[in-house]
Amino acid sequence: MHPMLLHAHAALHSIGIARDRLLHAAQTARTAWTANDDLGTVQAWRPREERQPTVVRREPILDAVIERSTSSTSPYETRMVSIHETLTWLASAMLGEKPYGDPLDQLRYHLPRLSPDAASNIRLWVDEQDQAARKLLGCGDDHQLLPAIQCPACRRAGVLAIRTSAPTEEQVVVCTVGCICIGRQCQCRMGVPSVGIAHVWTLEEGLLRKAAPGGE
Ligand SMILES: [Zn+2]
Ligand SMILES: [Zn+2]
Repeated sequence: MHPMLLHAHAALHSIGIARDRLLHAAQTARTAWTANDDLGTVQAWRPREERQPTVVRREPILDAVIERSTSSTSPYETRMVSIHETLTWLASAMLGEKPYGDPLDQLRYHLPRLSPDAASNIRLWVDEQDQAARKLLGCGDDHQLLPAIQCPACRRAGVLAIRTSAPTEEQVVVCTVGCICIGRQCQCRMGVPSVGIAHVWTLEEGLLRKAAPGGE
């Protein structure tokens, strides 16, 4: 897969995790306000009777948040709406029509068939929302550093990281200092060497095994 698609793929998984955490934070905040019996604030949040507010289910809760988005919603809900609008807009642009179901699922499904430029554009918008959500939640990014392994491109140790949001078989490794590929002459061993692209490797590319100390 082209590195731009791999980066976008990682970003989509990352925002999926951030969105799940926002849902949890929004529910916790809603429960806390309910416990305080602040009916004036809570009223706009209350799901209709058929809703199940104590059960974490993505679509009904997301629908409820969007339907009831008011000035009294928590910052978590406000961010969830913003994420949903961005993902819907991106999926609509990709599909040529409004997506059916979760726009994030649609983006993930169709991503492998997108052009690198389209994938790169999606990643930029998704990353912006992801970073804002994670800042609001007070959680870091999904990078798990690999301190003992040297980057085959920039030769620095301790700068590679696994992006952990995706399922294990879909995870990628990135260089956290953003070293850039110079194309076919590059020593990076990236699957598709591409001039001007930040390095990214799939786990299947054997980077970890080949780059481990003593493995050169
Ligand atoms: Zn590097
Ligand atoms: Zn390279």
